[in-house]
Amino acid sequence: MTSAPSPPPPFSAPYAPDDRLIAARLFESSRLDAGQEQRINDTATRLIEAIRANDDPLGGVEDMLREFALSTKEGLALMVLAEALLRVPDARTADRFIEDRLGQGDFVHHETRSSAFLVNASAWALGMSARVIQPGETPRGTIGRLAKRLGLPAVRAATRQAMRLMGSHFVLGGTIEAALERAESDRAPAPRYSFDMLGEGARTAEDAVRYFNSYASAIEAIGRNAGHRPLPDRPGISVKLSALHPRYEAVSHQRVMSELVPRLIDLARQAKAHDLNFTVDAEEVDRLELSLDVIAAALRDASLAGWDGFGLAIQGYQKRAAAVIDYADGLARALNRRLMVRLVKGAYWDTEIKRAQERGLDDYPVFSRKTMTDLNYVACTRKLLALRPLIFPQFATHNALTVATILELTENSGGFEFQRLHGMGEALYAQLGRDRPELSCRTYAPVGSHRDLLAYLVRRLLENGANSSFVALAADQTVPVATLLRRPAEIVGTPDRARHPNIPLPRDLYRPQRTNSRGIEFGERAALGELLAAVAADHAKTDHARTDRVVDIDPEAAGRMVVAAQAGFYDWNRTPAGQRAAILEKAADLLEQRRAHFIALLQSEGSKTLDDALSELREAADFCRYYAAEGRKLFGDGEAMPGPTGESNVLRLRGRGVFVAISPWNFPLAIFLGQVTAALMAGNAVVAKPAEQTPRIAAEAIRLLHEAGIPVSALHLAQGDGRIGAALTAHPDIAGVVFTGSTEVARSINRALAAKDGPIVPLIAETGGINAMIVDATALPEQVADDVITSAFRSAGQRCSALRLLFVQDDVADRMIEMITGAARELKIGNVSDVAVHVGPVIDAEAKQRLDAHIARMKRSAKLHFAGIAPAGNYVAPHIFELASADQLTEEVFGPILHVVRYRADAIETVLRSIAHSGYGLTFGIHSRIDDTVDGVIDRLQVGNIYVNRNMIGAVVGVQPFGGYGLSGTGPKAGGPHYLARFATEQTVTINTAAAGGNAALLSGDEG
Ligand SMILES: Cc1cc2nc3c(=O)[nH]c(=O)nc-3n(C[C@H](O)[C@H](O)[C@H](O)COP(=O)(O)OP(=O)(O)OC[C@H]3O[C@@H](n4cnc5c(N)ncnc54)[C@H](O)[C@@H]3O)c2cc1C
Repeated sequence: MTSAPSPPPPFSAPYAPDDRLIAARLFESSRLDAGQEQRINDTATRLIEAIRANDDPLGGVEDMLREFALSTKEGLALMVLAEALLRVPDARTADRFIEDRLGQGDFVHHETRSSAFLVNASAWALGMSARVIQPGETPRGTIGRLAKRLGLPAVRAATRQAMRLMGSHFVLGGTIEAALERAESDRAPAPRYSFDMLGEGARTAEDAVRYFNSYASAIEAIGRNAGHRPLPDRPGISVKLSALHPRYEAVSHQRVMSELVPRLIDLARQAKAHDLNFTVDAEEVDRLELSLDVIAAALRDASLAGWDGFGLAIQGYQKRAAAVIDYADGLARALNRRLMVRLVKGAYWDTEIKRAQERGLDDYPVFSRKTMTDLNYVACTRKLLALRPLIFPQFATHNALTVATILELTENSGGFEFQRLHGMGEALYAQLGRDRPELSCRTYAPVGSHRDLLAYLVRRLLENGANSSFVALAADQTVPVATLLRRPAEIVGTPDRARHPNIPLPRDLYRPQRTNSRGIEFGERAALGELLAAVAADHAKTDHARTDRVVDIDPEAAGRMVVAAQAGFYDWNRTPAGQRAAILEKAADLLEQRRAHFIALLQSEGSKTLDDALSELREAADFCRYYAAEGRKLFGDGEAMPGPTGESNVLRLRGRGVFVAISPWNFPLAIFLGQVTAALMAGNAVVAKPAEQTPRIAAEAIRLLHEAGIPVSALHLAQGDGRIGAALTAHPDIAGVVFTGSTEVARSINRALAAKDGPIVPLIAETGGINAMIVDATALPEQVADDVITSAFRSAGQRCSALRLLFVQDDVADRMIEMITGAARELKIGNVSDVAVHVGPVIDAEAKQRLDAHIARMKRSAKLHFAGIAPAGNYVAPHIFELASADQLTEEVFGPILHVVRYRADAIETVLRSIAHSGYGLTFGIHSRIDDTVDGVIDRLQVGNIYVNRNMIGAVVGVQPFGGYGLSGTGPKAGGPHYLARFATEQTVTINTAAAGGNAALLSGDEG
């Protein structure tokens, strides 16, 4: 007797391998003989012709996209309207939104070419609305005129109707009962359905419960109606793991395994009881490993033994797709159970590319050329077919060429099915049904209200509107069928063309200027494990808690450092800019080589979470490389100025002398190095005074710069508290001060500088802010919750850019506050050595005391919405207070405390006035889909960094140059093109080139 194989080890495969290697392999395996190729052409042509001849009176998405392609202004306006309109509760905002969007396209002169009802109805509604809002009228003020015409309710109703129509096209029913009823009336011979309860990405525990309940009751309802046929000919349900847990992320692995797995088992058991097909949808790439752990753990549960309905979706655009199939096969074998595997291409491609760029990954985890995805999809098809019957393949595609290729590979054998989305691919599968009635096709049928429809709808519109998409091309009659039949391998040509030519690798994003800093994806277990091990090894090697190696100096010693730096200045200033830049680039490389060491330091001395520490390290490296690149440009040979003949005029920049750099504890590496490297690049000698809370990071950073080649005489470290800073800034021989910290200290430095006789020296100050965010009724609550939580509570709110004051339109305030509060409740507070922690301690006991006092004050004067629970130590848990008025917050509160103020839709002016009134102007955020509102606010506010529809922290060097106005600082912006020049002085050299013997160049000039 053979024993049951043990479960396979956790999934592991290279996260983002080189496309070229994969291409070579795929080319090899994609070959078919001439007969097969011809049959594929014949089948695909027939299907494409059926799609193009489709005269469905209702019209499909294909017709819709034909009318309003996403590459047109009208198409984009439609998509944005569809995404947000139905969630706007108040008429005023809805009207402004409609006016804003319809004003962006020419709907009035849009002539419908299609006879399809869906298209005509939408075009009619939109055209009718746009006729009321005449193009050419300025958006502001139009509302007033419209109100007089009494047309407004009609406009609103018509536009909403058009949006509903679009939504309902993709949704089978508002409730599972309605959907089941509609499914019953399906005229196809043996329709199979997989119902999808709309909604994903729970942000709160309540949402996760709501989604769980909706899956559970749907399974019951589907089960009751499931009939008596055996699997696979039974209906099913698709679930999204992100809907079932509010922190479905790699770093919360342990929690997800203990909380989500039992929920999944519960649902699966229910599905098993009705013998349904139960499929776990595929979501973002960084969640793949986690999802496979969850699936494997659930599947192993004894209660699911003997059931063949469990399934998972696999994305062909992932470079790891083949490895996931192997893993699924291993699971099926180990458990001796059939698995259903849906093969899709993948629905999050644009998000994946952006994420990899933002995180500075070595390569992309998804292909960058669509044809590579197609090629991989076919390779995965072969693999799946070969694994039958233990694997039951489900091919989900609307691409006729892909369908035809699959058919050829199946060689008329059974044991698989096709899948399509409700509202799409109708003509294609109807034709296939006629030609090959023995084939099965399952319809993936979304069910839910408009509230949950939006994210789904936008993904469908984006997917189908993209001009690389098969559906969009098939809808365009001008594209010849032969073009649609071109094989992926033929289009790619050779492996070295496997990458998209216009999508640079994340590391090359800023080329030719500089290299992007390297990051890692925490969703890649191997990379995260490696980093954690390296950080742990560093902790073991170095006692980061030791402070005895840090020696504070006295004010006299600080004075001597200025004198010594002055001596070092002469040589350093004469060092060619290219050489200075090369040293900074070497420093960036060293930082990356010693990543684990600096992360360990940032964690032990600065109490940074792993994510924060890694981001800070990357920012420090970016500063070095950015200033090196800018410095090469600015401090080279100088700029020749125009002038009369016989004379040369050159303007050049050079160092000023000794710069004092005073930096804060909240970015002890990045801001510290940013200031120092900018001053050095400009040719100055530097005396750096770090925050007294973070001396060891500063000492290591200075050691690294010296090692990279900065002469010891040009760079000095002055450890100590505020007295050292005061002694340095009061010194008569300094040539400039760069400071980041509180407005109060910046003022005292300014006074100290002004009190001195002698040269007037510049002060570059970056100080704090009472940073605000405005959220109107068009904003998406889930996105707002993510961005508010990140902006207010990441780094325990100890960022100068952090959100302090949130203004929410009162029509949506309850729901927004509820979601933000629910999301805050899910944050883990604790020691940053635990990778799952989101909020670490504040910097010291003094800071905690100040924040606690503020919380106590707020508890007396404001409404408390949320108070997290902090462990013992220097922890301050996130708090959310609602203020009656913004005036109640009079100073920057540097910690995880969010203040919320409601505003009326017609009172946004008051909000803007109160933001301006604070006198600060550092960061500001706005969540709104109304461009006119966004433009108006940007225009009005004197704020350094404005973020629209995203979080408002984490400015990237050279991308979002950082710094503010008014009480928030003097400018120029750190990490921006105007920064280095402020550290420099200018010199013009005029040479009379005719002085010795006359103007020879002029006299010998050619007459042309
Ligand atoms: C029944 C069903 C269930 C689904 N379930 C899921 C699911 O669980 N998870 C999920 O993610 N998606 C899911 N999808 C959506 C699916 O990923 C898309 O519908 C599918 O990618 C469209 O592929 P196609 O073959 O129909 O169209 P095609 O037009 O041939 O392919 C479009 C696809 O190519 C890929 N692509 C586009 N541009 C590029 C590029 N430059 N480089 C690389 N690749 C590119 C993208 O994946 C894009 O969606 C499902 C679809 C169906 C029909």
